[in-house]
Amino acid sequence: MKLVTYVYSDSKRIGVINHAGNIIDVSDIVNSNDMNVLIEHFSEIENSLKLCCEGAGKNAVAIDAVRLLAPIPATRRNIFCVGKNYYAHAEEFGNSGYDSSAAAGNVPANPIIFSKPTTSICGPDDAIDSTRDPYNTIDYEAELAVVLGKKGRIAQGEDPMSFVFGYTLVNDVTSRHLQKLHSQWLLGKGIDGFCPMGPVLVTADEFGPPGSQTISCHVNGELRQQASVSDLIFDIPRLIKTIGQNITLLPGDVIATGTPAGVGLGFTPPRYLVRGDSVTVSMNEIGQLTNTII
Ligand code: MG
Repeated sequence: MKLVTYVYSDSKRIGVINHAGNIIDVSDIVNSNDMNVLIEHFSEIENSLKLCCEGAGKNAVAIDAVRLLAPIPATRRNIFCVGKNYYAHAEEFGNSGYDSSAAAGNVPANPIIFSKPTTSICGPDDAIDSTRDPYNTIDYEAELAVVLGKKGRIAQGEDPMSFVFGYTLVNDVTSRHLQKLHSQWLLGKGIDGFCPMGPVLVTADEFGPPGSQTISCHVNGELRQQASVSDLIFDIPRLIKTIGQNITLLPGDVIATGTPAGVGLGFTPPRYLVRGDSVTVSMNEIGQLTNTII
């Protein structure tokens, strides 16, 4: 099932994409226009939502007729993120001179976890304001994001994948200068509007076991990043377990799993994003997330 948050007729709604590729408003079924509520109550409403996907959808609207927002435009708390989680990217970042973190060096021994504030989230086609990085060091990071569906800590022997609700894409947009200036990454990566998310949230059953899917990033149509989910240094169960054995996980939590090699920083000289650039993060199972730098 593919889920969306969108604006239609000046109102924010949540919907499912039906078999014909159109959007069915499910805000009434969920009794909310907040995707966090849908996720939290999914088991109670799953059958009703499935019927919407399969139905003729006389109230369906074309995707082109709405403005898509991030699937979860306001997460309940910061997005969890993972640093240096693909080998080739760990190397390019470790060698760049920009890694001032305590985990400086190439391949980390354990997952590096940081976060992006919920206020950094923006949607598909939203503009990224280049003036928010006065150092002109805006970089892209295409990432698969895992959305969790269950509350709790992970007990010994519990399957971390039982916490997965679904998947979406994020672009972990970064001010490299700020990232270097502060040894914690929050400031360089937490800027307002620096976390495009979307275009849809795909439920775990439809996405399938994570592994063979391919994530890509194009800048102005030029392929910059491409990797398979199976290339992650720390796989998705390991990431969920790392966070969830110490922190109570919540329905709607998002974990951005890390980015492959090919970021702007990795070029000599660096190829940072400039005004007018268009960045697209894509994965066949989820779609395309495009944002323009203004
Ligand atoms: Mg990242």
